[in-house]
Amino acid sequence: MARNRAGWPGRRAFLRWSLAVPAVVVGARRQALAQPRTLSPTPSCVDKGTPTPSQTAGPFFKPQSPQRNSLLEPGMGGPRIVLTGSVMSTACRPIPGALLDFWQADNRGGYDNTGFRLRGHQFADEQGRYRLETVVPGLYTGRTRHFHVRVQAPNQPILTTQLYFPDEPGNRSDFIFRPELVMTVRDGAGAKAGAFNFVLAA
Ligand code: FE
Repeated sequence: MARNRAGWPGRRAFLRWSLAVPAVVVGARRQALAQPRTLSPTPSCVDKGTPTPSQTAGPFFKPQSPQRNSLLEPGMGGPRIVLTGSVMSTACRPIPGALLDFWQADNRGGYDNTGFRLRGHQFADEQGRYRLETVVPGLYTGRTRHFHVRVQAPNQPILTTQLYFPDEPGNRSDFIFRPELVMTVRDGAGAKAGAFNFVLAA
């Protein structure tokens, strides 16, 4: 999984530079560097032993989505979000190569049921991490804001579930919503940063 580090100073250059400026400036600079475009949540074992709950796939899943880490396409409307996290076992061990297949509504609340717009699958890296670039899904009648995802450890059963946004008014009235499936979402430069760790029973 390639990460864009463009624009980051080399370590030697950074050290040399940081020795030459006041500590307060270094602190500010470090804070800036510590706010990358994505969150990298430390895998949490708070809920060790508790698998991520499953949810209905709904009517819009399509198999054979393209493999890609970005669902963004030219002209696509709506705020951007970069979603990151890990796929772990109930023993909090990362699951390298886990399959993650995402599908979602566009910013107007519509699904592409003829093509594969806003659909894509990827495989977690050697540390069980994933990264998805996409847009914030829009609302449609009867549902709060959500992503759909299927997650599967190699040769294990598929977990089908959904991810939700914090502080979303519709969460209170959506009977499918579960608070355990709320992502951490922060505003970032150019894109929101979302985070969620999946825990598989496998
Ligand atoms: Fe949906």
